[in-house]
Amino acid sequence: MSIVDSLRPRAGLRVLVTAGASGIGAAIARAFHDAGSQVHVCDIDRAALDRLVVTAPGITGSMADASVAADVDLVFDDVRGTLGGLDVLVNNAGIAGPTGPIEGIDAGEWERTIAVNLNSQYYFARRAVPMLKRSEVGPSLIAMGSVAGRLGYAFRTPYASSKWAIVGMTKSLAIELGPQGIRVNAILPGTVEGDRMRAVIAARAAATGVSVDAMREQYLNKISLRRMVTADDVAALALFLCSPAARNLTGQAISVDGNLEYL
Ligand code: NAD
Repeated sequence: MSIVDSLRPRAGLRVLVTAGASGIGAAIARAFHDAGSQVHVCDIDRAALDRLVVTAPGITGSMADASVAADVDLVFDDVRGTLGGLDVLVNNAGIAGPTGPIEGIDAGEWERTIAVNLNSQYYFARRAVPMLKRSEVGPSLIAMGSVAGRLGYAFRTPYASSKWAIVGMTKSLAIELGPQGIRVNAILPGTVEGDRMRAVIAARAAATGVSVDAMREQYLNKISLRRMVTADDVAALALFLCSPAARNLTGQAISVDGNLEYL
């Protein structure tokens, strides 16, 4: 295989993307689908799932709350039927969580953030790993982290805590699973264009008492390239991580963020 050919994932990879009906997860699901993979997604939003499977025929989907272990078990029942095995898990589910000073953060919101962002990755990993061990095409686990898992993030402590935990999980699983040929890497997106970032900027503007425009400017000024990244930038890295060219890449937390200098 030439180096150029090795930059694409092998055709026919069996890929599960959590929270894959919209946003970054959907961009990843579509990218793998376009690359000839068999893709199954799960999501908590039925309408978004329906839209995805209609616009990308061939992608299959399950309704699930990724933070609920029983829902995750049902997703794997579906995966056995639709994919028949698994070569790639993309642990993408994650919510922004609350914005505010630590003494103002509601315990329920803290727990929900940890449940969706961290517990979900554990529920999916523990079910996926036995299947990945049976894969014969260079199995891989991708964990969706964040720049908030590389830098401290004041007023977003629940989110940052969950995303730093993802890096610890990634590095531990890479060591644990490397001898069985399973690679484990985290992708750390920075500021991704889209509805979610608009909401994050608006919440932070409200929390700190500045206008939304001024807050957006502040966000761009922290990025060396002075632009946000796109969901497709993140999907491109996910494809690369599952390509033969990345066969010796594991245990890494890789940023896609235009070099976000500070938060
Ligand atoms: P998003 O808010 O656009 O949501 C994507 C999907 O997640 C939606 O379809 C939603 O229905 C689904 N979802 C939400 N809660 C769920 C749950 N409990 N179970 C199943 N599905 C659920 O998210 P996004 O911006 O695409 O982010 C995806 C991942 O990337 C997250 O882990 C996030 O932390 C990370 N990330 C995002 C950004 C960003 O700027 N958008 C930056 C860094 C990291």
